[in-house]
Amino acid sequence: MRNLLNVDEALKQILAVISPLGSEEVDFLAALGRVIAEDVAANGNLPPFPNSSMDGFAIQASDINHANEQQPIELRVVMDIPAGTQPQKRIQPGEAARIMTGAPLPEGADAVIPVEDTNAQWTPGSDDPLSQSILINRSVKSGDYVRLAGEDIRKGEKIISRGALIRPAEIGLLAAVGKNRVNVIRQPRVAIISTGDELVDVSEELTPGKIRDSNSYTLAALVLANGAIPIRIPKALDKLDDVRQRFQEALAQKPDLIISSAGVSVGAFDVVRTVIDELGKVDFWRINLRPGKPLAFGHVGGIPFFGLPGNPVSAMVTFDVFVRPTLLKLSQRLDQAVMIEAAVTEDMHSDGRRSYIRVKLKREADGWTARTTGTQSSGALSSMMLADGLMIIPEDVKFLPAGTKLSIRLLRDLHELN
Ligand code: AMP
Ligand code: MG
Repeated sequence: MRNLLNVDEALKQILAVISPLGSEEVDFLAALGRVIAEDVAANGNLPPFPNSSMDGFAIQASDINHANEQQPIELRVVMDIPAGTQPQKRIQPGEAARIMTGAPLPEGADAVIPVEDTNAQWTPGSDDPLSQSILINRSVKSGDYVRLAGEDIRKGEKIISRGALIRPAEIGLLAAVGKNRVNVIRQPRVAIISTGDELVDVSEELTPGKIRDSNSYTLAALVLANGAIPIRIPKALDKLDDVRQRFQEALAQKPDLIISSAGVSVGAFDVVRTVIDELGKVDFWRINLRPGKPLAFGHVGGIPFFGLPGNPVSAMVTFDVFVRPTLLKLSQRLDQAVMIEAAVTEDMHSDGRRSYIRVKLKREADGWTARTTGTQSSGALSSMMLADGLMIIPEDVKFLPAGTKLSIRLLRDLHELN
């Protein structure tokens, strides 16, 4: 095992040569889920003017200091202030203005009394005439039910910092301050090439000796799931000319990353190695990892390149371990992967490589337990689908008794588990 490259060391070497992508300007709603590349400051107060937080009456709090249910205080209603309008006059002592939630507080008023605390009634949406006066059943303090200008955000204040992930609340704030275009980090464009004489595409007939190309689609889905843009290149036959042409097609797409699957082991027909050697500078690693020992990494035509193993599970695991962190660095996103601890339900044997074991998880009284999904064949894609997580057996471990606690990389949301 000594000549195998350690997983963390390999990842370190990979990330050392990956530079974050630049930014692009997009419509602000398209920024959802993206990382913002600029600071955003408010160009005005939010709310822009003092306004009512209730439907009721704008008043002077000192007028109704002594109001209660037994001795209500009567005020003259002198104006109506629907939302979206500008009050026409000042409120004087003894006066009230009917006001709707969000409507501007008139000058002279310092509080709002909610309609429920008066004898007034109105039907929402109707044009009920204003009553001449109202009776008020309780007191309020100066400032009650008033939202001050700039109470949420002050003019000039930085509301979103460069590097933040844009979520629905950030979208709302961008809208509130009128920022309809924003700079976000570009999404990585990832070219995906499958290689192998045995492959047919999803819609083609299977003929003897052939299998459907699943990797191209699994990898495209993983790319999408990680916020990047997949560009699927038609599969390449195990012929020098064909592989060369597909890599050239990939380069013509000006991708930020190229991923191929299969052809990086030492099979007699694995011509990928020859072509990528020709087109760039690529290292062929044997990683201390199971599944997924063979891995190629380097640059092809100046573009970072991963040659992943062909076995579907190995392709997925090496994507998770090496390509996903690369996409995160390119797009400057933080890792959202969730790890939990679980106790293995059976004795485990390992070969000393760092192993990612597909497991089902169960919540027991004293914590999570993990049971292997059965076959750990690196060709068994269904075991990946059934797995709740990948249990990580560290390097240099050959035996673990049942009950040992290990880290699990979750493949589902916790709430889907039982
Ligand atoms: P290779 O790396 O070419 O030796 O391939 C290893 C295994 O992965 C073989 O069983 C291939 O048939 C399988 N394989 C390679 N490419 C794909 C693919 N795109 N989809 C599904 N299985 C594949
Ligand atoms: Mg092959």
